[in-house]
Amino acid sequence: MGVKGKLAWALKIDKVSKTLFQAIYRETMNLLMAESSNVDEINKKTKEIGFKVGETLLMDYADRIRQHAVSFSEFASTLQLAYKVNSGQDFTETVISDDKRVIRFTDANCLICEGVVITDMPGLQYCNLISGVFDAVMELRGFNAESYQESCKALGDSVCTWTLRLKD
Ligand SMILES: [Zn+2]
Repeated sequence: MGVKGKLAWALKIDKVSKTLFQAIYRETMNLLMAESSNVDEINKKTKEIGFKVGETLLMDYADRIRQHAVSFSEFASTLQLAYKVNSGQDFTETVISDDKRVIRFTDANCLICEGVVITDMPGLQYCNLISGVFDAVMELRGFNAESYQESCKALGDSVCTWTLRLKD
């Protein structure tokens, strides 16, 4: 995506209070935790919400994203840009595997996990909503791929990590 595309994204995204966003996210998670019977169910629901969020975010950009025929690994830069304009920050690290079938994004300052400490729910993927957003974007773009949250700061890991993997 060129400069023109970046500019269009930057101008299109409205700002919202970080405190407001985090408070709404926390209450949503509290509700999911209260209404789910186990951690896997919470993780699944969080990702499903993320998928719908991703679809909403993409509505304005769907046509342009379809126009650009790029490989899976090159698509990482589109996802980096989307993360930047929606969160206001860059990934701490992006790693693409040698065979270019796996993309690993890391954020050491995840906004969703900021200030959250969960010690009694091992396996919880607190910011798994991001995985769902990635899944929606990749599906729309025609990649048979899936994202998985590998580590999570809210659960005590040093960074949040999402792995995106081509399935065929
Ligand atoms: Zn996180």
